[in-house]
Amino acid sequence: MERLQKMRKQIYRCIHCGACRFAYSGEPDKEGLGEHGGVLYEGIVTGCPAGNKYKWEGFYNSGKMWMARAVLEGELEPSEEMRDIIFQCSTCGNCAAQCENKIPTVDVIEALRAALVEKGVPLGAKSAALSKNVKEKNNPYNEPHAERTSWLKGEKNLKSKTAYFVGCTASYRIKNVAEATERLFRKIGVPVAVLTDEVCCGSPLFRTGQLSEALRVMNQNLETFKKYETVVFSCAGCYRTFKVDYPKYSGKPLPFKAVHTMEFIADLMKQGKLKIKKEFKKIVTWHDPCHLTRHIADDIEKRRLEESNNWFIDSRAIEKEKEEWYELPRYVLKQIPGVEFREMYRIKENTWCCGAGGGVKTQYPELAMDAVIERIKEAEATGAQAIVTSCPFCFLNIRDGIKATGSKLELYELIELLDSLID
Ligand code: SF4
Ligand code: SF4
Repeated sequence: MERLQKMRKQIYRCIHCGACRFAYSGEPDKEGLGEHGGVLYEGIVTGCPAGNKYKWEGFYNSGKMWMARAVLEGELEPSEEMRDIIFQCSTCGNCAAQCENKIPTVDVIEALRAALVEKGVPLGAKSAALSKNVKEKNNPYNEPHAERTSWLKGEKNLKSKTAYFVGCTASYRIKNVAEATERLFRKIGVPVAVLTDEVCCGSPLFRTGQLSEALRVMNQNLETFKKYETVVFSCAGCYRTFKVDYPKYSGKPLPFKAVHTMEFIADLMKQGKLKIKKEFKKIVTWHDPCHLTRHIADDIEKRRLEESNNWFIDSRAIEKEKEEWYELPRYVLKQIPGVEFREMYRIKENTWCCGAGGGVKTQYPELAMDAVIERIKEAEATGAQAIVTSCPFCFLNIRDGIKATGSKLELYELIELLDSLID
């Protein structure tokens, strides 16, 4: 409850205007294109996957703010019914991005989840298993820890200044991403160390209010990776957890530079150190993973506001910096010869979540599927042949969505695609 109490002022600032339901991508022009050139297709209503599925106030963020307030006032007793509303939220952050009142809605939702756990409301069986599995096996998939690096053909714990935090999904479920990342970094002359002591980053536990186990894995990872100058991440969720949650919960800045693989490659390309020569002749669209896009842009904004000490806030400079961040993966894709790039309607700050995050795919797979089907329709409306993203967890859910819908879209992880184009 302490976390929720601390957010009291922010919770009371919500005027329940409902603006956080939507994702504004511009009035469609005569051809039905939004301001980024994305195609508006029939069916787009909101920016909130939970509200879009259940069409009831409680599932939209404004309803969750009412519940947070009522719990604080003692007017609403936390219950399992309430749990199934609060936890059916992918913590995508669309609501935080839309709120003109600058309410940190995801922080409130996570604090409310933690309060429910603290008050003894049992978690859904699959959410509860996440914590048990991480405690016993160091990963939420209940796989043996010794198998974590089984995909790696080369040397483990290599001597290098740069380490690769592989994450649980790429280690156990989407191994093609782990293999391609390690191989690509070798090809570009930056061999990365893959560490046998790596454990789950704790993201599913931080997101579902299971703090004690989350803090254990955080401390273990900080200890394991502290001797490296740079740590690269291919998972949006792991990257967000290291970059935003670890400093917040440890009270200290990270002892190394944390860089997403997409960002690392974009930087090399901008310096002229990496050029793609092989062609990829396809119409391509890009899916912004929420934890890589909005969550990091939000962190940029928070840090700049703290630095300014609220004395002089250069909003334009902050917006420019956020826009530069959103543009990075698009820049990378446009460096590939043959690519015809097309935007979807809801992108960048207004991106539509794939629906997998925040513990949703584990406990409420129907919601995750509902959201990803919406994304696939939006991608198809652009006429794209391929959808590219940069997060194994989004990759997993989009892959399942493509399978379920029989879509003809081809799916690529950005680094995997680049690896296939570099000898
Ligand atoms: S969180 Fe912000 S946008 Fe959403 S209802 Fe409250 S004040 Fe309005
Ligand atoms: S975080 Fe995303 S899913 Fe959750 S309430 Fe906000 S917009 Fe809806």
